Amino acid sequence: MNVGIVGGGQLARMLALAGYPLGLRFQILDPAMDACAGQVAPLLQGAYDDAARLEALAAWADVVTFDFENVPATAAQLLEQRVAVYPPAGALAAAQDRVTEKTLFWELGIPTPPFATVDSWAELPGAVERVELPAVLKTRRLGYDGKGQRVLRASDDLGPAWQALGGVPLILEGFVPFEREVSVLAARSSAGETAFYPLVENHHRDGILRLSRVPAAGPELEYEGWDYARRLLDRLDYVGLLAIEFFVKGGRLIANEMAPRVHNSGHWTLEGAETSQFENHLRAILGLPLGATAAVGHSVMLNCIGDLPERAAVLATPGAHYHTYGKAPRPGRKVGHLTLRANDPGALAHGLKRLLPLAGFEEDTL
Ligand code: AMP
Repeated sequence: MNVGIVGGGQLARMLALAGYPLGLRFQILDPAMDACAGQVAPLLQGAYDDAARLEALAAWADVVTFDFENVPATAAQLLEQRVAVYPPAGALAAAQDRVTEKTLFWELGIPTPPFATVDSWAELPGAVERVELPAVLKTRRLGYDGKGQRVLRASDDLGPAWQALGGVPLILEGFVPFEREVSVLAARSSAGETAFYPLVENHHRDGILRLSRVPAAGPELEYEGWDYARRLLDRLDYVGLLAIEFFVKGGRLIANEMAPRVHNSGHWTLEGAETSQFENHLRAILGLPLGATAAVGHSVMLNCIGDLPERAAVLATPGAHYHTYGKAPRPGRKVGHLTLRANDPGALAHGLKRLLPLAGFEEDTL
């Protein structure tokens, strides 16, 4: 079967790598000639709204999917008229706008920080009054990895934050003094089957995910996350893998955002789960039976930002795995990740002692 992927970054690359054993073929649409998924699958070079390229992809593919959520709505609509497209365009639209997304959470009874829309400088003081400081001012659209946001702690911060972000629609959210951050990965197939991965604990720095860890929580918090995920899967008539990021405060979940795609906090599943998130996304969009989502032991995933550690040194660490995305090193760029898998927490801690410094992490990161 033929799978088209819009977007040719590392997520598309890992989808293709997971799909070949299933007998799938791939074509990738990306404007960049050197898109890293192009190293492992044929690349159609073109803009995401290039109608001729989209037509070609739709004509070739049995199903089309995405490796990022900010696909132009026009592109998703054009594809949907010609071929099965998963996740559905409605899920992309919901995730593209932080206000639509939080309103959906709220409608489904999924807790969120307080929030208010801010479309002009004049609206900001009223929003601050409703949400209360400290708060986070974010662009409604196109923000990722902590880009397009500013924390407001005092009224003096309003002017500079507006200077930095104003001019596009914004959202003001209450700042959550969270105990930790977690995510839920869930899959729903076109046949209606659902599957939920163990809750993942995530550590960010400067808004970018640095480290994920599993297992992360007892059954109560995990069940709460699965319950919220199920509500979203049902409401969105979702097909594919869905990731939802939460803050944990007072031992309860508060939703931050969702991603209608495979997710960085699910990379540990490549070695740490019975079936990887990439394979399950493909199984889901093709209507194949979903694979088991249970964790195999204990896992930590470390993101490599900017450049990669020395390969041989990583591979010399028992239980460690090395994943390069085939990208040129550049400050701030996600160029690969490492995973460490062990059968018990002691062995994991032992391996981490060696791996953390190799990957440029402080030894007391966890
Ligand atoms: P986002 O782009 O919304 O995922 O935000 C990136 C990171 O910024 C999150 O993972 C948090 O660490 C932090 N952050 C975002 N929103 C809030 C908030 N309302 N309260 C506290 N921290 C936040």
